[in-house]
Amino acid sequence: MDQSKQQEEEEDYGYNLFPERHSGKFKKGSIGESLFTFNHKCQLMLKFALETSPYAKLLLDAMKSSGCTVHKGRHFSCEDCDGIVSGGFDATSSQIVLCQNNIHQQAHMNRVVTHELIHAFDHCRAHVDWFNNYKHLACSEIRAANLSGDCSFSNELARFNFGFKQHHQTCVRNRALRSILAVRKVSREEAEKVVDEVFDTCFNDHAPFGRIPHSKRDAKFAYRDFQNRDRYFANL
Ligand SMILES: [Zn+2]
Repeated sequence: MDQSKQQEEEEDYGYNLFPERHSGKFKKGSIGESLFTFNHKCQLMLKFALETSPYAKLLLDAMKSSGCTVHKGRHFSCEDCDGIVSGGFDATSSQIVLCQNNIHQQAHMNRVVTHELIHAFDHCRAHVDWFNNYKHLACSEIRAANLSGDCSFSNELARFNFGFKQHHQTCVRNRALRSILAVRKVSREEAEKVVDEVFDTCFNDHAPFGRIPHSKRDAKFAYRDFQNRDRYFANL
């Protein structure tokens, strides 16, 4: 990619999907925001997700052990978003955006929080070049789709997509592609090429879960193992 093209693209990193980001005027807390708005509901669902979802709890603990403690108030932001996006990770501010106008169910909130925490985890453990290296972005999107439950059986069932042995892989690949195409100006062919190049490596990288948590039960076991692993190392 040449330099001029790179600069052009620097202006559009998908932030158009998050109009309240970098817009200058910050609408949060403004007129008419009463106790029972989307924002309040979003905050409550976020709190519930962080306190009860084994996926979220494991990721929070793993990040804490890696020196990246996540603070609910500082690292999460409930905002109105355009289109049908549910959330995003803003690497420049290390903040997770939750789209309060598009998330209405607790289960959906849990998945979005988990998905974005996986990006935050990757951002914490590795020097991810989100903007210039599409392989890094693709890898994190593959991991987020694979490990967040986005492609778990019940979600796939709800989309009438189940029944194929390879359906989990296919679902992960499609969702990673969709995520990349939503935030970067690349052709579908380019995105497919990058995703396929890194797919096997990133699909098999299950950190910090140690397995693919296909269900909440799997995630609970993964969380328990993670806690025990910490205890084991602490006793050395
Ligand atoms: Zn993502």
